[in-house]
Amino acid sequence: MEWSWQRIPAEYLVTGVKLAQGGKIGARKGFLHVKKGRVESIGAGTPTVEGVPALAADGLVLAPGFVDTHVHFREPGQEEKETVASGSRAAAAGGFTTVVTMPNTDPPIDNAGMVRYVIDRGVESGLCRVLPTGAISVGRKGETLAELGAMAEAGAVAFTDDGSPVASGKLMSNALKYARLLGVPIMTHAEDLTIVGDGCMHAGYWSTRLGLPGMARASEDAATFRDIELARAGGAHLHVAHVSTRGSVAIIRRAKAEGVRVTAEATPHHFSLEHSRCRDYSPLFKMNPPLREPEDVAAVADGLADGTIDCIATDHAPHTATEKELQFDQAPFGVIGLETAFAVGVTYLVEGGKLDLGRLIQCFTERPAAVLGLPLGRLEEGGEADFVLLATDREWVVTPASLRSRSRNSAFLGETLKGQVVATFLRGRLTWHQEEPSLG
Ligand SMILES: [Zn+2]
Repeated sequence: MEWSWQRIPAEYLVTGVKLAQGGKIGARKGFLHVKKGRVESIGAGTPTVEGVPALAADGLVLAPGFVDTHVHFREPGQEEKETVASGSRAAAAGGFTTVVTMPNTDPPIDNAGMVRYVIDRGVESGLCRVLPTGAISVGRKGETLAELGAMAEAGAVAFTDDGSPVASGKLMSNALKYARLLGVPIMTHAEDLTIVGDGCMHAGYWSTRLGLPGMARASEDAATFRDIELARAGGAHLHVAHVSTRGSVAIIRRAKAEGVRVTAEATPHHFSLEHSRCRDYSPLFKMNPPLREPEDVAAVADGLADGTIDCIATDHAPHTATEKELQFDQAPFGVIGLETAFAVGVTYLVEGGKLDLGRLIQCFTERPAAVLGLPLGRLEEGGEADFVLLATDREWVVTPASLRSRSRNSAFLGETLKGQVVATFLRGRLTWHQEEPSLG
């Protein structure tokens, strides 16, 4: 039987690949044998199995499917920006086989029924494992604790009011205590709104020059510090979302050294872009947390390199063109990121000498899976065959046509990036491949 992109058999081999495992890229040619959605075997060499077709993917890197701990799929309530189905398409195009959705939909995901709703939409689309988070507070209003136990039972993998911080330290403390009993992390959107006020970009040289209200680093630093101390006191697992300041990185580094159960993520835009990008008032560079100063960008990259920051998460935040054409101070915060995340990592971290390719791939695979405590992000015999084929040296230009999200608000439009996702497989099934996959 022949192997073709149009018709993937239930059992097949992928051969000639460089295997990315445990932070290393195999020097010898390796293979993956998939049978009924599971890994039959994986290793070095080029085996032939009687009657089993082989895809010769010479020269490509084969890695576990990517895991994103932070996406906004906007369903229900804002389907004009994104749906679980369209977001899953974008995820597959970016090499992701698992994504964790944020609960700031309309209505918010703050009860077991809504958690099941998101899971069902994900199963329906079938392109990605969609794992919802539940809100910490009822209606994300920051007043009353939501039904965390029922949501965990329904399948919520973490709790967060993301999009907004939990202003009350008492409520956050209670949430951490419950989440500890349930064995799931609390994810903090670390921001002190009384410090930020109506700020719309990083407070510094460029906000002054552009005449825009600034968002001080202290807002993020203070909130990160508070939540880490609450997690320390309660012995709970805190996950810090979208770390963007050198101060936060230092606070997390120290807490980890002291044994606090804290993990953290950083977005591609925060380890690559600086606040000077806002100089033309383009809302494509407006996000929360904002793009900051060169030393913050370097600190985030260093944090990923030394493990202070566990993983890369996109904070994929789709918005319609109409909204992103508003004036800078009026436009909503956020950019999409699923389709470009890996390439931004290769271009800025690997080419920039901060991380080698094996470590970068860990930031997309085993490290985020470990944050969630899920048996994903690895390829092992008997495990689910979630994997990607990567052309790590291939350059491509980010155009609107190269994006699969329902929205087009990428901060990397027009940029030439290095590193391309050639194909993505979920449980052995093809969920994405380049238009004309030239292998080898
Ligand atoms: Zn957030």
